[in-house]
Amino acid sequence: MFGELIRSRLYGLCPKRIGTPFGESLSSYLIRLAEAHTVCLGDLLAYEIAPVLGKTYLLNSIDRGGNRFYDGARTINGTEKNAKDMVTTLECLTGTKNLEMLTLSKFKEIFPVRNLIRKSLAWCPECLNELMEKDSLYYPLIWCMTAYNICTNHKIYLEEKCPTCNKLIPFLHRKSRTGICPYCQSQLFKPLNTLHLTDYKDYYISQSVENFFKDENKENKFRIYTLYENLFSILHGSFDGNIKQFANYIDVPKTTAWGWLNKEVIPPLNKVLEVAYTLKIPAQVLYTEHKKIQITPNVLVGNINRATQKKEKFILSNEEVRTYLSETEKEQFGVKAIIDIAKDLKCSTKFLYTNFPEECKKISERNYQIKTEEKSLYLSTLKEQIQEVCYNYFSQGVFPTRKLLEEELNLPFLFKNRPMKEYFYQVRVELEKQFIIPKGRIYVTRG
Ligand SMILES: [Zn+2]
Ligand SMILES: [Zn+2]
Repeated sequence: MFGELIRSRLYGLCPKRIGTPFGESLSSYLIRLAEAHTVCLGDLLAYEIAPVLGKTYLLNSIDRGGNRFYDGARTINGTEKNAKDMVTTLECLTGTKNLEMLTLSKFKEIFPVRNLIRKSLAWCPECLNELMEKDSLYYPLIWCMTAYNICTNHKIYLEEKCPTCNKLIPFLHRKSRTGICPYCQSQLFKPLNTLHLTDYKDYYISQSVENFFKDENKENKFRIYTLYENLFSILHGSFDGNIKQFANYIDVPKTTAWGWLNKEVIPPLNKVLEVAYTLKIPAQVLYTEHKKIQITPNVLVGNINRATQKKEKFILSNEEVRTYLSETEKEQFGVKAIIDIAKDLKCSTKFLYTNFPEECKKISERNYQIKTEEKSLYLSTLKEQIQEVCYNYFSQGVFPTRKLLEEELNLPFLFKNRPMKEYFYQVRVELEKQFIIPKGRIYVTRG
């Protein structure tokens, strides 16, 4: 289409980290393209992109200041036609090739559209912070997938609300800038104060999603028919063809399992990820390799029993959990972490944070209060000891040095703490005034 040298209408921006699990998304590319031309995204769309894209509705919407285009913009990272149209347009305007890699289009055949992509932006503030330091801000495509909830690099949940104005942030906005909230202009990579606790299953699933982007073996294409065949062989190989037992084991209604096994319904990615987690099979393997999958029936039977037991353990109603939490909050004498409460109740921390945010917040606040009280008690005891030891040294005619005190109290790093160091100097100056030592007298030092 183009000659060797390409003269393009727009700057031929290079997409970030293509071919890795953290490859850039098309919406991120658009935002960076506007930044590269130092125009706002709204203008880039209205004056450069819309005419080539040739969408009357887009032109109309932008002309009238409407939001129709922006409301639907999340799907440009997806598997559908508007993603393809935007790719074609941007390839034409920038002369950059392979921009379909910035969308999920390669999964078109295997991932149903419904619930695949988030409704608004999600991000890992720690990743953004690192990218910002490298002056390389962008949003990875994987963050737009609803199945991807935990950043596996930083082991924290992705954020979905601006830490300053608490708003959800659309993928594209007239004033979009990478790493910045378009509503309040504050940065999205601020350090977090939230607790960094993650659920193992969520973490595992995020890792599984990443595997779909690791294109190590290109011949191993993902195929929906391979998935159907694998489910079928698992049903027969490990469940004796008993759909009810199979459906129970993977925790879906029997009719759903029936639909999948009869190739009538494409299983949604999020559900396949859960099933793969339950069956302990890497999710991408279910779509690629047919003959290699083996689940030993014996292992499965053991797992089935364990799975049923596990389910039976967690039988508290929401009301019972709430009562337990509020009692814990009231009766708390020592620190009781949410993770320990989750263990007591045999549920995940995410379950508690999601369903009982108020209660969890109160318990976390109470923990913080207890820790603060303990710390301040410890510090005041320490100060008394410093005073006492100093007094003793002076009364023996020994000048108390930092080293002497650290040894005496058996706290080798005591004065690395600045407030403590300053307190010690202050005490020593005061005591030195009380003990009038004759001029010329040399302090005794301890050997
Ligand atoms: Zn991260
Ligand atoms: Zn904001």
